[in-house]
Amino acid sequence: MIVVKIGGASGVNLDAVCRDAAELIRQGQAITIVHGGSAETNEISTQLGHPPRFLTSVSGFTSRYTDRETLEIFAMVTSGKINTLLVERLQRYGVNAFGLSGVDGRVMVAKRKDTVRIIENGRQRIIRDDYTGKVEQVNAALLNQLIAAGLTPVIAPLAISPEGEALNIDADRAAAMVAGALKAEAVIFLTNVPGLLRHYPDDTSLIPTIDKAKVEASLSFAEGRMKKKVLGACEALELGVARIVFADGRIDQPLQGALAGRGTVIS
Ligand code: ADP
Repeated sequence: MIVVKIGGASGVNLDAVCRDAAELIRQGQAITIVHGGSAETNEISTQLGHPPRFLTSVSGFTSRYTDRETLEIFAMVTSGKINTLLVERLQRYGVNAFGLSGVDGRVMVAKRKDTVRIIENGRQRIIRDDYTGKVEQVNAALLNQLIAAGLTPVIAPLAISPEGEALNIDADRAAAMVAGALKAEAVIFLTNVPGLLRHYPDDTSLIPTIDKAKVEASLSFAEGRMKKKVLGACEALELGVARIVFADGRIDQPLQGALAGRGTVIS
């Protein structure tokens, strides 16, 4: 099993990814896909008159402020549009893809951060209506049943809380949790850069390999959203996944390339 995370940032060549996935699946490789949708959610929520807002926590992390209306738009965009069209594309290449979000069958159960302490205009404030969570449990039995039935799961980044609320979750860290639960041999994070760059945005500063004992040190190279990916990589390693690749999703055969060592390989 390999888990593939498809980024929400624009630039990933979905056609190349799906064609490559189809070829690997024909060769007998099991694949589970987790996708994001942040860029498209920003666009559509703006069109709907509810533009994105971001929170900066006291510890300095930035995240989407997901009030109930934003959650509903996020579900519409990720679980509705992106997921369905990804499944459509895979089906076109002969993969019997099965779309779902973590809400379906409690595939991902997450803990809601019921209060978020933020910094706004230099002052601390508490936010209580944020529907964001961190995945704590993955229903591997259900995913394994789908896989055993010859289906390829395609998972949108929503989870369910123990209280039964849908939550926005980080797709990179969700991919790590899914990989751990499925005992995947590798996780491939496809994005719109060649891999982890020592001097972002200089493409020639690609870090080709990282020893798994030293991943946390590479957090210092990552800016913004790339930090979440490195965190995801650390979590996947802790869960026993042997190999993580940050790979370019804009090229031809991005998955076969990643498996052959193209990108940043952490092992
Ligand atoms: P996705 O939505 O595809 O998951 P993100 O936008 O979350 O992707 O993260 C990838 C982005 O992280 C890149 O497009 C790049 O702008 C940014 N980034 C920040 N620091 C680095 C770095 N050191 N190496 C590579 N990319 C970086």
